[in-house]
Amino acid sequence: MSEGHTDVLVIGAGVIGASSACHLARAGRRVVVAESFAGPAEGSTGRSFASVRGQWAGSLNIELSWRSIQRYRSFATDVGYRPTGYLLLVPDAAWAAQQEAVRLQRRHGVPVELLDTGAAARITPFDPSGIAGAAWGPADGVVDPHLVTCAFLDLARAAGARVLFRHPVTAAEADEGTGGWRVTAGGRVWLAQHVVNAAGGWAGEAAALAGLSVPVVHSRRNVYATAPDVLRAPLPLTIDVGSGAVVRGEGSRVLFYASRPDQSDGYDVSVDWSWMEPALERVAGRFPWIADLPLDRRGCWAGTYENTPDHAGVLGPDPSAPTWINACGFSGHGLMQAPEIGRLVAEQVVTGAITSLDVTSLRLERFADPAYTARAELVF
Ligand SMILES: Cc1cc2nc3c(=O)[nH]c(=O)nc-3n(C[C@H](O)[C@H](O)[C@H](O)COP(=O)(O)OP(=O)(O)OC[C@H]3O[C@@H](n4cnc5c(N)ncnc54)[C@H](O)[C@@H]3O)c2cc1C
Repeated sequence: MSEGHTDVLVIGAGVIGASSACHLARAGRRVVVAESFAGPAEGSTGRSFASVRGQWAGSLNIELSWRSIQRYRSFATDVGYRPTGYLLLVPDAAWAAQQEAVRLQRRHGVPVELLDTGAAARITPFDPSGIAGAAWGPADGVVDPHLVTCAFLDLARAAGARVLFRHPVTAAEADEGTGGWRVTAGGRVWLAQHVVNAAGGWAGEAAALAGLSVPVVHSRRNVYATAPDVLRAPLPLTIDVGSGAVVRGEGSRVLFYASRPDQSDGYDVSVDWSWMEPALERVAGRFPWIADLPLDRRGCWAGTYENTPDHAGVLGPDPSAPTWINACGFSGHGLMQAPEIGRLVAEQVVTGAITSLDVTSLRLERFADPAYTARAELVF
């Protein structure tokens, strides 16, 4: 088997691997990206809801998302960023906490407004029962996941990176002599100083190849669609915080989803038709107008979240293998944080630590801490 040398072997050409490769190559590292699929963004990335928001309840998520949105906004090429807005409909019981979150978001520079139900209903019509008010992020919106991934890969290639499709990583062995890795991908062995595990929902399997573990699982999510030509005005992404029901416009269609509570883990990207009616019922509970619209199965799709137990990503070196860098498990918000995650991966590789942002809470070690309790933060 032929051998090659590289500074960093990135597993995965989803948005996280692409951003990591771009930042690493621009920092002067030799980079090889090995991807199983025949093209970029064919995992979770290309099946996402494409939405970005600076509205989070905690400082770290706000920083990761807001810095990333600003990067999307200022990209030299078009990555499909459109500030179509994000409207959160907040129930009475969560209103005090939401107001606190908005104060925090504003301290981080995120533009967010608090609206009464009347003003919110002029953006997206909804049944106001039990809703105390709304939070509106006018700079939030959408990007194009394929354009983003391709843009990062183009920048990586321009800085010398090699991107190899149809190259599944099938073995990874620590190289005692160099402290790096012998990685088999597509029938070739790469001697790499660092490995970046950006394998999304497959990150657990990728880590297992090296005798390591990371708790990431696939969890299917379904996006349902109305027929085209039903939408006459823009419909920003709107979340009924109490139920998790979500709607947004895409062209002249309305897209909607609601997570299935009994969804089992595992890779499955077939649309769950048995959940379409229950999801519609849940969504119609807050947005009754949707019940009258014709649905169109051809506009629906499914993909997988790459979930960790607390729905926060894993970022940084494996505690037992400092040249194995995990950047995975962003649990349904990897697209909106990818630019910043890639920058931090490069910082880890180049300087040996991440110091520009406190990402301690994303370390893999947290899951082994006896004081650890899984608690998701305002994740949809
Ligand atoms: C329905 C849905 C809606 C979503 N909505 C949003 C949203 O609105 N906003 C948002 O920010 N996020 C959203 N997400 C989540 C977002 O898509 C993910 O967080 C993000 O795409 C993760 O990117 P990734 O690069 O880590 O994973 P992926 O895109 O899955 O990429 C991982 C890549 O690694 C490759 N790989 C795996 N194992 C190997 C191996 N052994 N060898 C080589 N290659 C390998 C895979 O083939 C894959 O291409 C959504 C996801 C879904 C499914």
